[in-house]
Amino acid sequence: MLEVTDHSTLSQTLLQEVKTLADRFQQTFGRIPSFMEVCGSHTMALARTGVKKALEGYVRLISGPGCPVCVTDQVTIDAMISLTDGVNRIICTFGDMVRVPGSYGTLMQAKTEGKDVRVVYSPVDAVRIAEQHPHQEVIFLGIGFETTIPILAAAVKEAEEKQVQNFSMWMSTKLVEPILRQLLHDGEVALDGFLLPGHVSMVMGRKHFEFLATEYNMPAVISGFEALDMLSALRHLLLLSLEQRAVVLNDYKSVVTEQGNVQAKYWMNHYFTLCDEAWRGIGVISHSGMDFKREYNQFNAKVRFPVPTREPRRTKCRCGEVIRGLIDPPQCALFGRACTPLNPIGPCMVSSEGSCAAYYQYMREE
Ligand code: SF4
Repeated sequence: MLEVTDHSTLSQTLLQEVKTLADRFQQTFGRIPSFMEVCGSHTMALARTGVKKALEGYVRLISGPGCPVCVTDQVTIDAMISLTDGVNRIICTFGDMVRVPGSYGTLMQAKTEGKDVRVVYSPVDAVRIAEQHPHQEVIFLGIGFETTIPILAAAVKEAEEKQVQNFSMWMSTKLVEPILRQLLHDGEVALDGFLLPGHVSMVMGRKHFEFLATEYNMPAVISGFEALDMLSALRHLLLLSLEQRAVVLNDYKSVVTEQGNVQAKYWMNHYFTLCDEAWRGIGVISHSGMDFKREYNQFNAKVRFPVPTREPRRTKCRCGEVIRGLIDPPQCALFGRACTPLNPIGPCMVSSEGSCAAYYQYMREE
C-alpha cells in the first residue's frame, strides 16, 4: 500500500479522509479532482513526503509555475550568462542558477573558464563582497517571487545606506497573482482549486488571493509544507469543491495573516515598481514582475551593464509545458534519459524546486 512518509496516526487518518472525499467528488462529478500547487516548494514537498504518489488515482496534483529558476525565460538566462563577459566583474547568484543551461553554456562553465562567478546565500552577502572589492563591479542576479523580493530590497537598502557604489542587481522577479490570472484566462488546464504558496502568502497575506474566489469562482487554500499541512489543505479543497463554495482559506495561520508582512511589502514598493516580465513557455505578461524604480537606477545592472540579447537556441526541453501544467515531466521524451539531475537540459531538472527534479528524485518508475 502506498503511504505518505509521515506515519503519524493523524497523517494516515487525514490521508484516508482525503481519499474518501476524492471518491465522493468522483461519484458526484464523474472525474477525479484536479488541484494545482502553485509553489515549487510544495511540488518538492508533495513528492518528497509521498503525498502525491499516495493520492495517484484519487486527486490529480498539477505542478504550477512557482519555481523561480524554472519560469525564468531563456533570453534572460542567456543575458545573465553574457554579463560574465565584462571585465572586472564579480557575478553573484543563488546556487541553482549556476547550473541552468543557457543557449551557449552555464554560469558554472563561465566560472571554469576563469570568470568570477560566486554562489551566495543572500543578496546581502553580495553587498559585503562589493565592500571587500571596491575596484570591481559586483552584480547580483535577482530572481524570485514575492518571498525573495523583500530580501532583494533589503540588500539594496544596505548598499544605499553604506553608499556601496560598485553593487548592482539584475532583476528578473515574478509575481504570483498575474500568472494565476493568466493561467485562468488561458484555461488550458481544467482546475478545481489551488493549493496556495505558504511563503508568498506570508508576505502578501490571505486577502491578496481573494480575487481567485470573487473573480474566478475558484476555491483556494493556503498551506504549509509538512505532509500533515498539505493533506489538511487538500481536505479543505475537496470539501469546498464538493460544496461548490469558492472561498480562499488560510490553513497556515501560524505563519500567514490576513494582510501579510506590511514591512516587507513597504520595502518592496520602496525600491521597485511593477514591470512586464517574460515567463518561460508563456511569454511576456504585463505587470508580472518588479524592477528598479527610475530613481534607484544606480543599482540597476540592466541600465549600468546592458547586454545584447539574441535569439535563444531551441532544444527539445518541454519545461514551458511542465510549468503550465500541460504535461507531467515523464511525458518529456528527454526525461530520465538525456535529461537527468547530473546532466540537466532544462531548468525544471536543475532547480531544487523543479517538477522534473521532484519527479526524478521521488516518483520515477525504475
Ligand atoms: Fe526539460 Fe528535462 Fe524536464 Fe524534459 S525532463 S522538460 S528536458 S527539464
